[in-house]
Amino acid sequence: MMRAPSPGFSRRHFLSLSAMAAGACCAAPAQSLAATSPKNPWIYHFKIGELEAWSISDGFMKIGQGLKLMYPEDERDAMATALKQHSEPLDHLPLYVNVLVIRKGKEIALFDAGFGAPASERRGWLAAGLKEIGIHPDQVTATFLSHAHSDHIAGFVTDGKPTFKNAALNVTPEEYHFWRSKNPDFSKTKRNPKAIPGMVRQAQKRLEILTPIKQLTPVGASLFDGAVTVENGFGHTAGHAIYRIRSGDDELLHMVDLAHHHLLMFQKPTWKIGWDNNLELAAQTRKRVFTQAAAAKTRVFGFHVPFPGLGRINPLGDGFRWVPERLVW
Ligand SMILES: [Zn+2]
Repeated sequence: MMRAPSPGFSRRHFLSLSAMAAGACCAAPAQSLAATSPKNPWIYHFKIGELEAWSISDGFMKIGQGLKLMYPEDERDAMATALKQHSEPLDHLPLYVNVLVIRKGKEIALFDAGFGAPASERRGWLAAGLKEIGIHPDQVTATFLSHAHSDHIAGFVTDGKPTFKNAALNVTPEEYHFWRSKNPDFSKTKRNPKAIPGMVRQAQKRLEILTPIKQLTPVGASLFDGAVTVENGFGHTAGHAIYRIRSGDDELLHMVDLAHHHLLMFQKPTWKIGWDNNLELAAQTRKRVFTQAAAAKTRVFGFHVPFPGLGRINPLGDGFRWVPERLVW
């Protein structure tokens, strides 16, 4: 069962507190409260044309390095100012983990799979979320791995086997070959060098398990009956894929990890995260995609922006602004 996240975020928690407060004096019995239990606040349903779509939260990441993870170093003061203006914390960066699921009849596609089991207070909620919307892992017919970082790939493996055994795992050849090579090139990252060998071992182990179901899909490939096009999001990793999903006149751009923070990387797309494999290329890609999405007023989905991750990118000064979509429950 999905566990309640930290109290500040939890609508369910809030409602249970309200119920307790009401119960202290004269409220209705507990059974009637259960009957009015809220919808799961960590699953958001929407549509893309004829496609059913869900954002399912796999949880949260609280990045303790804070702005020490952001580059260039000499612009961290300006970043701190930007965060303070929005009353954002400075001692850590809060990141969300939003998994996109789409469905057309019996075809079900999943874009990245979060942290996987075991579920905890912070992460690993996807399996419970899928169950709650009535999708068994065996019913998933297509999966997309944007890149092999653990918050995206780990959920594709359960107990040493592919979690979604009836679905091909689509990954770009650039991403797959990068991690499978003997000496992946980390010369352009700002990642802690000590953390790299462990990360590579984990990615290789998971890709080994997933290799029998992998399908190398290059940029430009069209899948899911023409509804999904793989696009170039290179820079965060060697073959980082982003996805354009179309149905009728509707369109959604899944930008995946082009931005990890909803303020910093929009205000200045040249503000970069040290996790990028190639920080300069990641920033160029971000600027290119944001410029295009802003001009076309494209609806956008992001893996790490605040849940449920839907919004638009508006131009603002020399940069951009993330404008979250109004939610309709
Ligand atoms: Zn990520």
